[in-house]
Amino acid sequence: MAKVTLQNIGHSYTAGAPIETWALKPFDMTWENGKTYSLVGPSGCGKTTLLNIVSGIVKPSQGRVFFDETDVTDLPTSRRNIAQVFQFPVIYQSMTVYDNLVFPLVCRKWSKERIATKVNDVAEVLGLGDRLKKTARSLNADDKQLISLGRGLVRDDVAALLMDEPLTVIDPQMKFHLRRKIKEINQQFGQTVVYVTHDQYEAMTFADDVLVMSNGRVVQSGSPEELFESPQNAYVGYFIGSPAMNFIDVSVSNLEITLGGKVLRTRNTLTGGVGGKIQIGIRPEYLSIARSGGENSIPATIVDISDFGSLRVLKVTIGGQIARLKVSREDGIPSSKEILLNFPAQKTLIYRDSQLLA
Ligand code: ATP
Repeated sequence: MAKVTLQNIGHSYTAGAPIETWALKPFDMTWENGKTYSLVGPSGCGKTTLLNIVSGIVKPSQGRVFFDETDVTDLPTSRRNIAQVFQFPVIYQSMTVYDNLVFPLVCRKWSKERIATKVNDVAEVLGLGDRLKKTARSLNADDKQLISLGRGLVRDDVAALLMDEPLTVIDPQMKFHLRRKIKEINQQFGQTVVYVTHDQYEAMTFADDVLVMSNGRVVQSGSPEELFESPQNAYVGYFIGSPAMNFIDVSVSNLEITLGGKVLRTRNTLTGGVGGKIQIGIRPEYLSIARSGGENSIPATIVDISDFGSLRVLKVTIGGQIARLKVSREDGIPSSKEILLNFPAQKTLIYRDSQLLA
């Protein structure tokens, strides 16, 4: 396994194009040995371009890629010692499941016993243990993708395991189970894994660190908890979490935040003057209905209720601005549309021009 260092990496598919239009704007980053990383963002934000630069499929327009101390920028994929799993199965249809899983290991000079143990372990984890003797062709589409995953996971001596939307074609019921399994195998064998997905849930449940991308830039990287608790900008607040984080315009008076005529206590403080558009950001999970008026409770009006089974999402207006909060089913629906909303200070963040203030 290797540490992956990206040094001033950037890429444009069009020679001579201005940097603002590049598929990947130049940046530096290090991925630690043995950790799992998710690249997440909407279609076209540059996830696959970045992954392909690491695998060697794309030669970056600028910058260097290192695996540990070795500069691999000019090495072809075949010489980078990586395993890759793609969106669609890459398998040998006429071979048995077992032979498909063995294939990546045969040229590695492993003993027969070591190969058999590893293949059986991975097959067991993926639930393919009872079909090892069947031909790949005879399996359904989900199981074929499992073989593809297995072929990536059996090799624990690679510099990195790179996965590009590997669960897209898998049945939704199975996805959750497989994410856990991939993570389990990774924890057992300590692979450096880079996992591309457009699905925030997949990214958050799978990775140690999530890199949120937008328009060719990594706009924030951090643990799922960091991204949820402290989005560095409104983009991450909107992209991570469902419903999205609430961003509410507030007034500033004597360096204090006021909403609905009341001063709001917040986790961070208003620094760097009073210019720019000042908003507070708060997750729908942290807003609640206050039983009585007190510090950080603001009048609001319920305008809609969506029922999601175990919880409800209340859409409210606060001085004409929309916000959403999640309430559990047990909490019931308030008898009046006019409520008081509680903003816990530690969960209420100040943003200036969509950037979190320090
Ligand atoms: P998706 O989730 O749809 O795969 P992505 O986040 O992986 O998207 P990329 O595939 O890396 O994004 O694409 C980034 C940008 O580069 C897009 O504007 C895309 O149109 C462009 N692009 C990607 N591949 C090529 C290519 N071979 N030639 C020209 N432009 C490309």
